[in-house]
Amino acid sequence: MKIIVANWKMNPQKGSEAVRLFDSVSKAVLKLKNFNLIFCPPFVWLNSISQKFKKSKNIFLGAQDVFWETKGAFTGEISAGMLKSFGCKYIIVGHSERRWIIGETNQIINKKLAAVLNSGLIPILAVGEKNRDQNFLEFLKNQLEESLGDLSADKIKKIIIAYEPVWAIGTDVPDKPEDTITAVNFIRRFLKEKYGVNNISVLYGGSVNSKNVFEFLKQPEIDGALVGGASLDAKEFTKILKIVS
Ligand code: PEP
Repeated sequence: MKIIVANWKMNPQKGSEAVRLFDSVSKAVLKLKNFNLIFCPPFVWLNSISQKFKKSKNIFLGAQDVFWETKGAFTGEISAGMLKSFGCKYIIVGHSERRWIIGETNQIINKKLAAVLNSGLIPILAVGEKNRDQNFLEFLKNQLEESLGDLSADKIKKIIIAYEPVWAIGTDVPDKPEDTITAVNFIRRFLKEKYGVNNISVLYGGSVNSKNVFEFLKQPEIDGALVGGASLDAKEFTKILKIVS
């Protein structure tokens, strides 16, 4: 079963558009099988979307970020417990736009991962190199090592990893599937050797669209895709989901 994550980022601008996008995609894919679909709208649209959410075996709600504390004087922040109360099951942690635009460090990401896991939700941990040079696997190793920190193997095995090379996000320049496989295999090997964790789901993200999704997802090593821009276009995203199905 492949996993598809729709990361809407800071879109759409109106709640009515968000509900329309959710409605048209979820209706179009209602009968499709072979994937779990996770919608990650902005926080402010979670409420209206969660009200439209029908019990479905393969469509889930997620969030794009979270704060690490559970409650208190943290102006502007949102806890995992709050997101859970809206029906979120997944939370993206460490997206590259948060790392490189907002300045989130691996240490912050580690605290967020712990908070999500402690609340019983599933983190989707995004990792990926800024540049594809000869050190990119070393860079990935460091990002994983610091982000996972001292989380126990029992916790780590619940995490979904999204391998997203930063240079491929929103650029229309996707990775080559064979290079993605190298990175994905490296991530799996590292998690096994360092933490004894097997069978972790690893997704690919970076300029996925209906023209290239098959090339990525036909690879057994790639467990799914995190889709940004293309998930905002109901027609294009439905096309992607039909191909995945
Ligand atoms: C993303 O949001 O992580 C992403 C991969 O975006 P895009 O599909 O637009 O490259």
